Amino acid sequence: SSNMAKSKFEYVRNFETDDTCLRNCYIVVRLDGRNFHRFAAQHNFTKPNDNRALGLMSRSAHSVMEELEDITIAYGQSDEFSFVFKRTSNWFKRRASKLMTHISSQFSSSYVFYWKEFFEDQPLLYPPSFDGRVVLYPTNHNLRDYLSWRQADCHINNLYNTAFWTLIQRGGLNTVQAEDRLKGTLAADKNEILFSEFDINYNNESAVHRKGTTLIWEKREETVIKRMKPPGEEEKDVPVTSIKRKVQAYHCDIIGDQFWEEHPDVLEN
Ligand code: ATP
Ligand code: ATP
Ligand code: MG
Ligand code: MG
Ligand code: MG
Ligand code: MG
Repeated sequence: SSNMAKSKFEYVRNFETDDTCLRNCYIVVRLDGRNFHRFAAQHNFTKPNDNRALGLMSRSAHSVMEELEDITIAYGQSDEFSFVFKRTSNWFKRRASKLMTHISSQFSSSYVFYWKEFFEDQPLLYPPSFDGRVVLYPTNHNLRDYLSWRQADCHINNLYNTAFWTLIQRGGLNTVQAEDRLKGTLAADKNEILFSEFDINYNNESAVHRKGTTLIWEKREETVIKRMKPPGEEEKDVPVTSIKRKVQAYHCDIIGDQFWEEHPDVLEN
């Protein structure tokens, strides 16, 4: 600290490099589970989608939003989650390494901390970890395209995985045969296989799997009854209303305009 005498070692601090994020840009931190193909297999994740794992990812992202500052929206699917800081944030002087490491360690420790709430009978066999990266987006258009890119990725992977695992679990194919069957197919072909061979309308599959999870802050009025004693009066129950901020989860399309029109304060202009 500043009132401490400087030691002769102090100069080493000058080796630190500046990683301040450009002002006025959205700061996006994306985490991705390390080697989760193996982690999923070792912890008996159901295929193609394990809802316990998806719930735990969302719970951990929720904890990141509540414990850290200035995150306005988060989007997650599979073993990844993206967090968006508001463009005016000055948290940790916008130092990329501070923001990214706080997010990834808060997320990882929450993943372990809440494990039992989601995986009651499945022990956690080893400590999982998540890598992180920082990307800056200067315009609302770029930021929306980033989130659209992640949701499009969710759709492409989930359609493939749904077709792949249906061919195995219900069609009796092995993994090599299922892979062969899907080689070179377009989205329409996969929809058709699901519909004509297995009577599955992909659009009726669960929204959390098709669309991923979007977390935003929402304001709510909350009324609690408080016991109060106004001066000169008897003690009585008084309703007290306050506005509370709460993280809300959505599993809807965020590529089109509707979501953004319904939640105009997520993006600043
Ligand atoms: P920041 O988030 O800025 O790092 P901080 O409160 O973590 O804030 P540090 O300068 O990192 O500040 O100091 C860590 C503090 O944690 C110490 O001042 C001390 O009070 C406490 N602390 C850490 N390890 C121990 C320990 N083993 N025993 C007792 N206190 C500890
Ligand atoms: P890397 O360390 O390079 O990220 P990875 O094995 O984590 O390697 P990813 O491309 O991130 O590779 O893919 C994550 C994998 O985790 C998926 O392929 C899938 O097998 C598995 N997975 C993640 N979440 C779930 C889930 N909810 N249900 C089933 N499987 C999942
Ligand atoms: Mg990867
Ligand atoms: Mg991964
Ligand atoms: Mg991944
Ligand atoms: Mg400290």
